[in-house]
Order: sequence, then structure tokens, then C-alpha cells
Amino acid sequence: MKDLIIIGAGPAGFTAAIYSLRAQLDVLMLEKTGPGGQIALSDVIENYPGYSEISGVELMQKFEEQAKKFGLVMESAEVTAVEDHGEKKIVKTTSGDHECKAVIICSGAKPRKLGVPGEQEFTGRGVSYCATCDAFFFKGKDVASVGGGDTAVKESLFLSKMVNRVEVVHRRDALRAEKIIQEKAFASPAINFNWDSVVTSINGENSVESVTLKNVKDDSEKELPVQGVFVFVGILPNTDFINIVEKDEGGFIKANDKMETSVPGLFVAGDARVTPLRQVATAVGDAAIAATSAEAYIESLE
Ligand code: NAP
Repeated sequence: MKDLIIIGAGPAGFTAAIYSLRAQLDVLMLEKTGPGGQIALSDVIENYPGYSEISGVELMQKFEEQAKKFGLVMESAEVTAVEDHGEKKIVKTTSGDHECKAVIICSGAKPRKLGVPGEQEFTGRGVSYCATCDAFFFKGKDVASVGGGDTAVKESLFLSKMVNRVEVVHRRDALRAEKIIQEKAFASPAINFNWDSVVTSINGENSVESVTLKNVKDDSEKELPVQGVFVFVGILPNTDFINIVEKDEGGFIKANDKMETSVPGLFVAGDARVTPLRQVATAVGDAAIAATSAEAYIESLE
């Protein structure tokens, strides 16, 4: 039986591995689609301390190399369920079951996509799902910001301090976001609202040049010239495989400040948990705590 299984090979997973391997635990990491996680899709990262500019792929290669230096064993498998049998956990995968004493869930989350032409083509080259990560690259430009929830409005406010103009595109005529941030957005001269509208395509030759909007009330169409599109229509956690821990209404796993879930021996770190910020820096911090908590839990069993 392994001491610890880490589910997911993104920033949280590799950090959990580095800490737990240095604590001499017997660790196995399971990963579905290959190492790196969401951050490997980022062209440039400028807000992870220690690297003034690095690509997501390169940063994750460094994380992986460091974990492997301490003897990390990785296996490519999709986790389908986690069973709690008290001091023994069973992690079920598409290529067999694994027994362990503790599990750290680092399975991350993914932004909900618009699913329109041009979105995939321009992702990382004009289409972004994170203003904190990418606003800087659109300094002085005009951008569209899609969605009407807390994330869309907060990120639009963040963008408005950097870009020339933010064109918010929302499918209804009222925002879902908290009133207090709505008021701030309405007061900003750099933010314009396109109500009752959806993006039907993202257009351009080599980079984004415009979006086509459809008014859902009268079906009219218009072309909005923008150089970037920020999509904030919700975040989907990769937590469907685990139904024995408490989650919030969005499916994110609840944890206390030791990263303990509602089930003893199951821990969570990074984007899959309920957290106010989803960044490499926060995933790394979570995972250091989760690994330390898992180590203490495993010791308590002996
Ligand atoms: P959200 O609350 O689910 O909002 C998603 C927004 O996208 C909604 O306005 C929704 O429109 C729109 N939308 C969904 N699917 C769409 C589609 N296919 N096409 C166009 N628009 C679409 O997601 P979120 O803003 O990421 O927030 C997630 C959770 O985190 C929420 O509980 C939120 O309160 C919380 N949060 C809190 C803070 C904070 O500082 N307190 C900050 C960020 C997030 P409708 O309004 O018409 O449904």
C-alpha cells in the first residue's frame, strides 16, 4: 500500500510531490492527460516569482524535473472514483485500482468555453480566460469581456485599469455579480455594456480583430472591433470522479486551512478547491500545506 496518492500533475500536484517525497513518503502521482495542467496552456507567465517571464510549459517542466529529482513515480491513468475505507483509501482508475493511506486531490478546474468559431484557434493569441494572467498584454487595446457574474465584472474592472476600453458582453440585461462591484463597473468610463448579447464568432487573420455579437432579443448582429476576448462564463472543477467529500454548489471541494476535506485522509489543493484565487502561486501554497497535513495524518496512523 502506498503512503500517498496525488491526483493531478499541475502546479499543485508537483508541489505536493516535492514536499511529500522530501518527507520520505512513498508517493504515486496519477495524471490523465499528461503533465502540466491548465497553466501549460499559458504562453507567457509574468506573475510567478523567480521567473520574470516563462512559458507555462517550461515552468511545468521545471516543476516536474524537481519532483523527479526526489524520486517521483508518475502513472498515466484516469481516476474514476476514490473510496474511503478508514485507514485505507482505494483510488480506482481506468487502468486498475491503487491502495493508499492518504490522497491529495490536485485535479484542477477548467474555464467554461463559449464554443464559438475562432475561440480555440485564438486561445493564447487573443482569447484568454484570466485577466490577472493576461491583461498586461492588452495594454492600451480594446477588449471584449464575456459574462455577467462576479468573475466577469471583477476581471472587467481589473482590465479597465490597463486596456483602453472593455466591451462587456452579457446574454441578459442584468448582471449576476454583487451589487457593489456592479456599481463600480457602471461608474467606469472605460467599460461599455452590450446587453442581451452573445458572441457568435471571434474573427481575425493572424490575431483577433473583432467579435460578432448577436442580440438575443431581436436576432440582430453587429461586429465589434476588439484585439482581445476575455471569457468569464464560469469555471468547471475537475471533481466529478469524487463524490464522498463535501463540495459547494459549483462542485468545488471544501477544505479547511489545513487543506483537509470532510473525509479524514483526503486532502485538496489548487483550483479544485473552494478558493478566492486560482493561480500557480496559490496552488503551490495550498499544496505545501496539503502535503504537510497528509504527512501528519499518515504519521498519526502508525
Ligand atoms: P457564474 O457566477 O456562474 O457566472 C457566469 C456568468 O456567465 C453568468 O453571468 C452567466 O450568465 C454567464 N454565462 C454562462 N454560460 C454562458 C454562455 N454559454 N454564454 C454566455 N454567457 C454565459 O461564474 P463566476 O462569475 O465565475 O463565479 C463563480 C462563483 O465564484 C460564483 O459563486 C461567484 O459568486 C464566485 N466568485 C466570487 C467572487 C468574489 O469576489 N466574491 C469573485 C469571483 C467569483 P447568466 O447570468 O445569464 O446566467
